[in-house]
Amino acid sequence: MQYKEMLSRLYSSLPKQTLSKERFEMPVVESFTQGPRTFIKNFESILKTIRRERDQALKVLTKELATAASIEEDKVVLKGKFEQAKIQKVVNYYIQKYVLCSECKKPDTKLLEQKGIKVLKCEACGATSSVKE
Ligand SMILES: [Zn+2]
Repeated sequence: MQYKEMLSRLYSSLPKQTLSKERFEMPVVESFTQGPRTFIKNFESILKTIRRERDQALKVLTKELATAASIEEDKVVLKGKFEQAKIQKVVNYYIQKYVLCSECKKPDTKLLEQKGIKVLKCEACGATSSVKE
């Protein structure tokens, strides 16, 4: 059997819904700068999508961007000017590392701490993997 044929058979045997659900779409960061500060408008909704704690996510974000952050209303305020693309890159990095299962790449995971080590437990496939910080 040709490879292409195998692929098309594989895909046609899968229900279409599963196929679209399987690809996790990175949430798009909405940000703008005002004076010397950068605001992330939709941080809360991103957190909701990826089901992560604000404090832990902010810690990683500020570390990667080497800046400080505060919360104003429901927006994250970063000290300094940052382009959307740069923040997006860090958010993507965060999601790859702390959200997506390393086995099945699904976002249905829990971030746990075991003996001081962060562990990602996947609810979809049951895999656990330690997160290297
Ligand atoms: Zn998994």
